[in-house]
Amino acid sequence: MNKIILLISVFIFSASSLALSAEWVVRDAKIMGTTIHTEVWHEDITIAQQAAELVLKTMDEVNQSMSPYLESSELSLVNRDASSKVIQISSELFSVINQSLAYSVKTAGAFDITYASVGYLYNYRKSIRPNQTQLEEQLTGVNFRFIDLNKSDQTIHYKHKGVRIDLGGIAKGYAVDLAVERAKKLGIEHISVTAGGDTRILGDRLGRPWVIGIRHPMNKDKVIAKIPLVNEALSTSGDYERYFDEDGVRYHHIIDPKTGDSARTVRSVTILGPKAIDTDALSTSVFVMGSIKGLQLLESLDKIEGIIVDKNGNLLFSSGLQNLD
Ligand code: AMP
Ligand code: MG
Repeated sequence: MNKIILLISVFIFSASSLALSAEWVVRDAKIMGTTIHTEVWHEDITIAQQAAELVLKTMDEVNQSMSPYLESSELSLVNRDASSKVIQISSELFSVINQSLAYSVKTAGAFDITYASVGYLYNYRKSIRPNQTQLEEQLTGVNFRFIDLNKSDQTIHYKHKGVRIDLGGIAKGYAVDLAVERAKKLGIEHISVTAGGDTRILGDRLGRPWVIGIRHPMNKDKVIAKIPLVNEALSTSGDYERYFDEDGVRYHHIIDPKTGDSARTVRSVTILGPKAIDTDALSTSVFVMGSIKGLQLLESLDKIEGIIVDKNGNLLFSSGLQNLD
């Protein structure tokens, strides 16, 4: 694939003299229940510092609005009231929910933010999961078609009682894109922003590509692939992020909306593409769909590539990445 040849050829460039003329600004923080990492470069280091602060502020802002754990978030308000009334929501929340619904259609329901109607019964830190009765009861609330969005007056309404939504499969990607767009407006041309498993990269690392390692799902000290990236987003979803094991079965945070149970046909999925909102939603989607349907979906999408580690530890690449190693 042209993209890969292009990316590899970038390796051949030596570090430009620019690399010596200013320092990279690096910031880490814990926001959105995950680790945020950003690296920014600008000739004027004060602009790079401003951009790094803006990245963290953006992450915090999105968290305040879309976190299911904050009672004060707009998302929590919607979950409390949208079954009983029609609610007007912010354009940001409307847009993220709207894009989530588009992915539900594209993935035949594998990506479904109403998974949370049953998903809220899991607590991975405390090894808690629903019993069969609870699961069957709450599963009746899982169906993206229960979400009624009205574009003209920017409202939302749930057409069923007991529906909850959670944007954990898409909001980090959205936030990462927003942070990069805001940094761009400050004049930044070289930046990486990572929120947990979701990364967006603008420009290169001054003459070299950014190199992102994908960890082995069964061994956190092993890297399965190192991918050189320039102007790209990358998301990984794995069953090792939030989970507990019980009687040899892993209960983790990616839920198959059909069953209300964790999806178990693959161990990790990495998606590459232009925007993190898409790579984020797709890494979660392909995890649920499994390798055969997941790869079919990836092949049908323009500028999107992926790597799947199946349950036997086999690596599967979409066609554009097959010559990567
Ligand atoms: P990610 O962090 O992208 O790997 O996605 C996992 C997160 O997506 C979970 O922590 C949930 O918040 C959310 N999620 C889990 N299952 C689904 C699903 N079937 N559709 C949409 N979101 C999901
Ligand atoms: Mg994802």
